[in-house]
Amino acid sequence: MTTTPVDASAITTLDVRDFLIDKQTSEFCSACGSDQLRLMDTWPDVMVSLRMDRLHTSAPKVKEEVLPVAVVACQKCGCFRLHAVAAIVEWKRSRPR
Ligand SMILES: [Zn+2]
Repeated sequence: MTTTPVDASAITTLDVRDFLIDKQTSEFCSACGSDQLRLMDTWPDVMVSLRMDRLHTSAPKVKEEVLPVAVVACQKCGCFRLHAVAAIVEWKRSRPR
């Protein structure tokens, strides 16, 4: 996954749906098994703290990044899962046209 800023405006709800289908993600909630999943139509940012010192001893211990994500939320129990928009952008870019 890239660490450069992601242009989330290049992604549509249809892109995310096609990505999830292409990647064969589950159509069921991982918590309750419901099929009442809904894709949010905005891409909120999440803050991710990465422990860098485990990989590179000279690196700062923690690196923080803001990543836009697609949110799939269960309408029955509220459980949600996140898909990095960067992965969807890369998938869309590399897809045959
Ligand atoms: Zn659920």
